[in-house]
Amino acid sequence: MTGPDYDVVVVGARVAGAPAAMLFARRGHRVLLLDRAVFPADTLSTLYIQQPGVARLARWGLLEEVRATGCPPLDHVVYELEGIRVEGCSSGVDGIRAAYAPRRHLLDGILADAAAAAGAEVLAGHEVVDLVREGERVTGVRHRSPDGGVATATARLVVGADGMRSAVARLAGAATAVERPRLTCAYYSFWQGLDAVFEMYEGPTGWVATVPTNDAVLVSAYFPQGRFERVRKDALDSYTRCIEDNAPALFERLLGKQRLERLYGTGDQRNFFRQARGPGWALIGDAGHHKDSLTAQGIGDAFMQAELLVDSVADGLADEAALTAGLAAFAEERDRRLTPYFNATLLVAQAEGREQRRALLAALAEHPDHTQRYFDAVAGILPLEQLYTPELMALVAQQAKARSAVS
Ligand SMILES: Cc1cc2nc3c(=O)[nH]c(=O)nc-3n(C[C@H](O)[C@H](O)[C@H](O)COP(=O)(O)OP(=O)(O)OC[C@H]3O[C@@H](n4cnc5c(N)ncnc54)[C@H](O)[C@@H]3O)c2cc1C
Repeated sequence: MTGPDYDVVVVGARVAGAPAAMLFARRGHRVLLLDRAVFPADTLSTLYIQQPGVARLARWGLLEEVRATGCPPLDHVVYELEGIRVEGCSSGVDGIRAAYAPRRHLLDGILADAAAAAGAEVLAGHEVVDLVREGERVTGVRHRSPDGGVATATARLVVGADGMRSAVARLAGAATAVERPRLTCAYYSFWQGLDAVFEMYEGPTGWVATVPTNDAVLVSAYFPQGRFERVRKDALDSYTRCIEDNAPALFERLLGKQRLERLYGTGDQRNFFRQARGPGWALIGDAGHHKDSLTAQGIGDAFMQAELLVDSVADGLADEAALTAGLAAFAEERDRRLTPYFNATLLVAQAEGREQRRALLAALAEHPDHTQRYFDAVAGILPLEQLYTPELMALVAQQAKARSAVS
């Protein structure tokens, strides 16, 4: 009797799938990594990798290659909310204090190459069109090659890392466990000649950020989802007004500067958790969990899930009971790690709690010794529930009281 063609088939070769394939292959497993795209290829993203994600790149031995693409270290953050300005940096992870924002065609290429270098077989231009099953258990995929031929690859585990509209999730029948309404829409472009660090502005009608990348500065504008239909009718005008209304000083700095590319954007900012696993399959990255990109967690989340899945199942792949137990542990731990930031993102993205954030930033502006903890919480290093020390809570309460006395 012959066994499956591979130990693992991974569908989708970007920031979730490529590291998973690499890490499985580094553990000695036979891995097939498939993507319908042909690389290098870009994807929608404002590019920012928070420090926990950067630390994983370092741990995997890939940070130097990412840095060598020429994306600058982002170790100074400016956060401004309605005129209150806080500056600083997080304390970092494993000694790494900088975030990075590499162009996605560069980052994703490095990750796919690393998977191949680790021994994974990589097939670009191959689209998964169906799953293979024995009874209820998924045992492989059917994939169409660029010449139109359809082939089968069998495996002990099929990993869906194929994005928010995941075909693996649909074909496996993954249930949606949690779903919340869309809250924002996002537009961005790239600018030349703009002097900027990583800057975030939260204003009366939206959010604006500057993200220095390899060859330019990305400037993003986020709007409430309720305005999407109006915004998309004249996206460039809306984008410009959003910057002017919410980051007026940045707007002045942009005057006379050159926009290098067209505007990119989306209103499809879904918020959900899907069932993370079933018999013979698992979902990682956007395929299993998606949240509004306003808080820039998606890349780091994808890295974390890739590593968590491999750590949970790699030793038990050949044993059905061990694999089932490993998948259950992966699913439980995924939800435990991601739920607090999901909830926090929903709060920020619906502008709920803006008064509370305003009071917090006002307290930080007056007491900068607390800012590092704040930026740790934003980066996903400090659990949010640990941000508020009794001292900080008292300072925030003072600010809130002072504001209500004025208004
Ligand atoms: C506007 C915007 C801004 C963002 N900004 C940030 C940010 O600043 N920082 C951050 O951390 N995150 C950000 N994100 C989120 C981040 O980009 C995603 O979370 C991340 O790209 C998810 O990676 P992934 O590998 O799970 O999926 P994807 O990047 O969607 O990759 C899925 C891959 O699967 C392939 N695929 C799909 N279907 C099939 C199939 N049937 N067969 C074979 N291959 C298939 C696709 O070709 C694709 O290459 C942003 C997202 C958006 C939309």
